[in-house]
Parts: sequence; C-alpha cells; structure tokens
Amino acid sequence: MSEQHASEPPAEPRVFVQGREVDSYPRYAPEAARGRYLRVTEVGEEVLHRRNADVAAFGTPELARLVDDLFHTMYVCEGVGLAANQVGVDARVFVFDCPDDDGGRHVGHVCNPVLDERPAGGGLDLDEEGCLSVPGPHAELPRAETATVRGFDRDGAPVVLEGAGYLARCLQHETDHTYGRLYIDRLGKRERKKALKQMSEMRNDVFARREETAAKLAGDLGSPP
Ligand SMILES: [Zn+2]
Repeated sequence: MSEQHASEPPAEPRVFVQGREVDSYPRYAPEAARGRYLRVTEVGEEVLHRRNADVAAFGTPELARLVDDLFHTMYVCEGVGLAANQVGVDARVFVFDCPDDDGGRHVGHVCNPVLDERPAGGGLDLDEEGCLSVPGPHAELPRAETATVRGFDRDGAPVVLEGAGYLARCLQHETDHTYGRLYIDRLGKRERKKALKQMSEMRNDVFARREETAAKLAGDLGSPP
C-alpha cells in the first residue's frame, strides 16, 4: 500500500515486529540491506489478478531472499506494505512497515495470510488508499476498522497480526493482493476509471521519484546502487 499521510511519525515511536513490541529498531528493517530493488508490477499484469500460490516450503534461502527483496523494494517505493506478486512472484507473502493511528510502527512479513472474519457489528473506517501497483492516485475506500491476520513467518512459525485504523487498512489491502484483488477492484466503476486515468497521468513522475529514492536508499543502506 502506498503512504499518503504527510505527517512524520514521532521521533521514537513504539515499534512492533511480527506483532511483538521491541525496545529498539533501526530506521529500515535489516532485511532491506540484503534485498534488491525489483520492478513493481502494474495493474493489468496477470500475476496481480489471480490468487497466488501458498508458500509450501519454509526456511528456504529463496523465501528469505523474497522477504529481503520485498522490504528493499517497498522502501524504494516509499510504501507501507508490499506483496510478492507486486514484484512478479507468485506466492502469498507480504511485508509491511506501517504506522498505526497512535504513533506506533509495525514491521513484519507474513506468508499465507488469512484475515479473520469481521466481527458482527464491527465498524467501517473511511480513508484514502493507494497502491504501488497503481502508481499515483489515491481514492477513498471503506475498510473494516480492525483486522486480524493469521499466517506464518519465513521459517514456518505462526504469526498473528492485529491492527486498527490505518494499520488494519494495510493488512486488508496486502492480504487482498495475495488473493489477486487490488483496492481499485473495490471501488465503484466510475471511481475505478478515474483512478486509472490519474495513474496514466502520474506514473512517469512516480517512476522518476522511485529512481531517485533507489539511489539514495542504496547509499543509506551501504549497498551498491
Ligand atoms: Zn497495493
């Protein structure tokens, strides 16, 4: 999911990694320094529009590398979440580094994510949403105001992620990706069309900014551009 909140988080937010609070955490998830910047797929590419394969083999170098690449690419694109099919990989995996509504920061990855059913009477939250695979536009979309995602980490250990507000939105958006659904698929016909038109006007600027950020991030992480 792409970031649209302009305000900077507080200097030392509470940080949660894989759903558990940690005392300190670096500016970038350590995976990013090992990862590569991969091309981000765009709406219309087949891998984005179907349910992806469940991860069957955990603890493999390939899966660890995928998580590394997803983190690196997400930071280059200044996103708060990124799914594997957004870098062209057919696997139900996503990463996130997302603020919550209380100044907290949530970082992690999950394989084979499944959303808990929305509790009866659970409220909806209306906010703007964007996507790195629909580069440029944002559109208002209602989402469940709380979300719980269950899955596994790259080594196969169970993971439970819970969030409210913006974080809940991110968890829903990224889980949707793994099932082949984009946020624009949840918009009305007219809103969807508008988003795609805006994308065609904005995408070149977005790509130019990504190239700049890629070079800067390589410097920050001490890896070659
Ligand atoms: Zn997205």
